[in-house]
Amino acid sequence: MRIDKRKEAREESAWELVQSIITQAVELGATDIHFEPDSELSKKWITVRFRIDGTLRDIKRIEGLPGGLDSVASSIKIASNMDSSQKRKGQDGRIHFRVGDKDLDLRVSILPTVSGEKVALRIIDKDRYIMKLEDLGMTEEGLDTYKSFISKPQGLILITGPVGCGKTTTLYSTLNRIQTREKSICTIEDPVESKFTGINQTQVDSEFGVTFYSGLRSILRQDAQIIMIGEIRDAETAQTSLRAALIGYLIFSTLHTKDSGHTIIRLMDMGIEPYLISETLTCIVAQRMVRLICDLCKGKGCQYCNYSGFHKRTGIFEVMRISNPIKELIIKRALAEAINKVAVEEGMITLKEAGNRLVSKGLTTAAEIYRVLALEK
Ligand SMILES: [Zn+2]
Repeated sequence: MRIDKRKEAREESAWELVQSIITQAVELGATDIHFEPDSELSKKWITVRFRIDGTLRDIKRIEGLPGGLDSVASSIKIASNMDSSQKRKGQDGRIHFRVGDKDLDLRVSILPTVSGEKVALRIIDKDRYIMKLEDLGMTEEGLDTYKSFISKPQGLILITGPVGCGKTTTLYSTLNRIQTREKSICTIEDPVESKFTGINQTQVDSEFGVTFYSGLRSILRQDAQIIMIGEIRDAETAQTSLRAALIGYLIFSTLHTKDSGHTIIRLMDMGIEPYLISETLTCIVAQRMVRLICDLCKGKGCQYCNYSGFHKRTGIFEVMRISNPIKELIIKRALAEAINKVAVEEGMITLKEAGNRLVSKGLTTAAEIYRVLALEK
């Protein structure tokens, strides 16, 4: 094999640069790093963007790197065991990376575009996914309700909200809390965001026919007591999950819905019989992520918060207990609004109220709550 020394040296120096950018991203608390070709200028310019607190920001433009984005892309391909000669097809991989005493997993995705390869790195930080339930941001009332249902031996608990609202963190933190050697916990996820010891995690793999539904069916033959299904996307998965909860499993899953009441309606729209929902569903958690006002500048914008006025985020939550009056409403196929109204009368703190509490404590702004709650379709 002919070794191209010059190419190798270029990749080595590109990899050094990439490593320093990853370290900087981790220090800034970024979740994603993008290396993008600059389509207007020469390909030797690379735009680096970070996603911090849910928002994508331009961080720097790299010029004069020998080999440009090609060197960056191929050094990342080498580090993640991809085929470095393949430039026309998208590729996915993983890199293990250490920053200080933090062990990180980077999920790598490379996408060919007309002006070069675009590289996206997702930083998988275990500490971000596993928190104490008390630190998620639930109100005291919500947390008490939630804890009472996650310790029950059976039932269906749904975590709901749009993409990026922190559902995975809530699920992982919950499994971490209830995990014991006496209980068998199995998950089916797409993808497995973070690996746990003592929990059996399966990844959806459409190429091999592993779907949420088929994965769940296999798990039900495995003598598990607690099952986490990454997402209920179709009627079959919904039906099987509810039936499993009916016969004695504790099931956790997620749905893309705007609030607790609409979650029940969504299940009915999927063709699930109201009696099955009322018999099995015990608790619904609706959540969003809210940016917090920067401590240093108090919202004016400074170097620390990248001039956004915000630093760090917290969850806001709405926890609905499926009480007897709500079960009756489900059987009657009541509207979401009627279900929400009864829940509020029973003491449920809505997402809006949870948000307003943060505003009155001076932790975030009314505009931020409005932005977050108006986001959903
Ligand atoms: Zn600031």
